[in-house]
Amino acid sequence: SDHQLIYPPHPDQMDWSSLYPHYIVENKPQNQKDQPPPSQPSSQTVSGESPVYSDNDSTPEPPALRRISKDVEVADIGCGFGGLLIALAPTMPDTLILGLEIRVSVTQFVEDRIKALRAQSLAQSETEGGDAAPAGLYRNVGVLRANTMKFLPNFFRKAQLSKVFICFPDPHFKARKHKQRIVSATLASEYAYVLRAGGIVYTITDVPDLHEWMVQHFDAHPSFERVGEVEQEADPCVGIMRTETEEGKKVERHKGAKHVALFRRLEDPEW
Ligand code: SAM
Repeated sequence: SDHQLIYPPHPDQMDWSSLYPHYIVENKPQNQKDQPPPSQPSSQTVSGESPVYSDNDSTPEPPALRRISKDVEVADIGCGFGGLLIALAPTMPDTLILGLEIRVSVTQFVEDRIKALRAQSLAQSETEGGDAAPAGLYRNVGVLRANTMKFLPNFFRKAQLSKVFICFPDPHFKARKHKQRIVSATLASEYAYVLRAGGIVYTITDVPDLHEWMVQHFDAHPSFERVGEVEQEADPCVGIMRTETEEGKKVERHKGAKHVALFRRLEDPEW
């Protein structure tokens, strides 16, 4: 349940170093003004006022965060077994990609899969040598257990992401279950918050009703516009999303239809 989910109170307090260990940078004091003070507690006071500290405050300081050199820019919401992540990773080797998945065992499976692929890529580069097999494959991809319906802004700052994938989300067919769908008016606002202007939400489903639901919610949202079909089909991520997700493969085997829709994050109006 959500009680066991670990999430940071604020994106600045998220420790990404275990997910992307090859991107760890030395802690330098130079950026100090951008960082929360080291003795800041991990939760806000109820009133929202900054707590006051004295020199003899005996509260132990939390361990300093190990910083990484880049921010996550691409998120796969409900990544399942990680097919999309693994296929995307080599196509954007300088971009950090994150899968978010609520099921414990599935998250663990993806974590193991990424570790194995990293080790394989390293071993291959050592035996083949040179540029034949780059050692760094899959270092830019990670997975995290999270309920994306609740904690998205805890992980990502405003305008941090350039791409959000929502591939074959659970359909929750019955009307009384629609509130569990991972696209809604409220969640569209959260996706708008974490996406930068020009960023894209990618959606795909084999359920026509769910496709219409997602289109309707993003179309109705003032921060998004639908991407036209020509641009959509020219985007290499669309092909990957159709063929490399585990659900996409399943639908292929059953010769089902796949409905795709992309939405661009618009600039916020000036006030
Ligand atoms: N995207 C993958 C694919 O296309 O193969 C998996 C699709 S599967 C039908 C939907 C996935 O979303 C499941 O793995 C499920 O556990 C996950 N999921 C459902 N609700 C979620 C939530 N609130 N937060 C994170 N993951 C969620």
